[in-house]
Amino acid sequence: MKIHPAGHAPSRPGSADWFTGRVRIDALFNPDAPDRVQGALVTFDPGARTAWHTHPLGQTLIVTAGLGRCQSDGGPVRSIRAGDTVTFAPGERHWHGAAPDVGMSHIAIHEVQDGRSVDWLELVSDTDYRADPPEPTG
Ligand code: MN
Repeated sequence: MKIHPAGHAPSRPGSADWFTGRVRIDALFNPDAPDRVQGALVTFDPGARTAWHTHPLGQTLIVTAGLGRCQSDGGPVRSIRAGDTVTFAPGERHWHGAAPDVGMSHIAIHEVQDGRSVDWLELVSDTDYRADPPEPTG
């Protein structure tokens, strides 16, 4: 057993190369080989979001607070909220972030392959981000 104490790593800002708006990343745990699983708490200000990206081995998001949006390439913008869990397949091109007027936090869990857990692409345009999302299912 290993306890990863709260505050074991400093909060860090999301890079403007890969995020739009203000984003804070708090590492929760990192893999210890042969384990590959990594977890982080990511907090988005209203309007903030990731760039488009893929994960070599996929990703699971557990929304812990607020309201957000996400989109898989070719699909509609979807609304997500605290309590929702979202999974992305390996290589699935997508983005995730807060709602325009409400912040969102999620725990992100993904596997690290060859030292990488994400491959970043272009920023999400305001037009794409603001496309009207349908009501969440369920
Ligand atoms: Mn992702």
